[in-house]
Amino acid sequence: IGFLKGIDPDVADAMDKELARQKRNLELIASENIVSPAVMAAMGSVLTNKYAEGYPGKRYYGGCEDVDIVENIAIERACKLFGAKYANVQAHSGAQANTAVYFALLNPGDTVMGMSLAHGGHLTHGSPVNISGKYFNFVPYGLDEETGRLNYDNILALAKENKPKMIVAGASAYPRAIDFEKLSAIAKEVGAYLMVDMAHIAGLVAGGQHMSPVPYADVVTTTTHKTLRGPRGGLILTNDEELAKKINKAIFPGIQGGPLMHVIAAKAVCFGEALKPEFTEYAKQIVKNASVLADSLLEKGFNLVSGGTDNHLMLVDLQPFNITGKELEKKLDEVYITVNKNAIPNDPQSPFVTSGVRIGTPAVTTRGLKEDDMKQIAQCIYLTATDFDNSADKVRETVTEICRKYPLYE
Ligand code: PLP
Repeated sequence: IGFLKGIDPDVADAMDKELARQKRNLELIASENIVSPAVMAAMGSVLTNKYAEGYPGKRYYGGCEDVDIVENIAIERACKLFGAKYANVQAHSGAQANTAVYFALLNPGDTVMGMSLAHGGHLTHGSPVNISGKYFNFVPYGLDEETGRLNYDNILALAKENKPKMIVAGASAYPRAIDFEKLSAIAKEVGAYLMVDMAHIAGLVAGGQHMSPVPYADVVTTTTHKTLRGPRGGLILTNDEELAKKINKAIFPGIQGGPLMHVIAAKAVCFGEALKPEFTEYAKQIVKNASVLADSLLEKGFNLVSGGTDNHLMLVDLQPFNITGKELEKKLDEVYITVNKNAIPNDPQSPFVTSGVRIGTPAVTTRGLKEDDMKQIAQCIYLTATDFDNSADKVRETVTEICRKYPLYE
């Protein structure tokens, strides 16, 4: 940023402010993380200059021999990390990865089942405002009303009724473990492909803290920037050679042009980091931190959808405290805690207001926070939700102290 200041102070100043915000705030957005300087160095590199349409060894441009090495490293490491036979590392984002799989395996109008956005699914799993919902006949499945969990019997019944060509599993706001073996059995029974979008939990899968979908799904998609802690981007995995060929064609020339080689380099660095034993410790700590934070919030009287968490996130139902998700998000921002408002199942509020917030531990775990810090955070959230006017200063002080204890990018 120092270098940029002398050349483009407008952009550099905004970047400076964002760095200061990241240092000052506790980042509890479940889909965010803090990348290593090595990942950042690869991203901010000369590889951004290179056009490399095609795949290693089969490019439409000259001068690709060095970026070929980079892409091959990324592919090899992705396969090793997740135990997959084939990987496409070119998807620009999670949404692109999902769209490419639909483009590869479906025809417009095909019936697909995906988790409802209102119950924790992602926009790209069939929302009517997304290309997935516009081009395909998505039938949503939701959570069991009583347990707040997926009900595999209900999913099977819905699948038998609708005979989908594909079942999409995975979520953006589901706090419980997903049983990919059961979903695979359901998909097989109705003759559907199983696509698992493990974007949120990829880091937990890599670190052995969540069942891997790779042995069970026909195709697995993910982002690389959430629990996996890499650059913003997408990744597609499969064990099937024919599907791999179709997916490569769907990414390029299907829905993308030139790959972002600097981002692919950063993905390779991220996969390298995730292959180290420390990453397993990190993934374990994410889950431990989430579990302690969830228990502490329950003790304070918050409701959690499904009653708790198995993974890196929890969905807090704020109705007992008579505050909306929108209000709490704003108040927490004022005391330097970042979360996002999130609808809870059957939310009486609109999606812009909501009755819940989603809270995740990946970024604070990267920063080094442990179980005791989670208890302090729960107290901060409780005070902010129930007694903001009297306690905002005190909470801000506590957060500042925690952030000082765990410095960022020093
Ligand atoms: N899939 C899931 C489950 C997600 O949660 C997200 C992002 O929130 C995406 C896909 C989309 O990823 P991206 O923002 O990189 O397009």
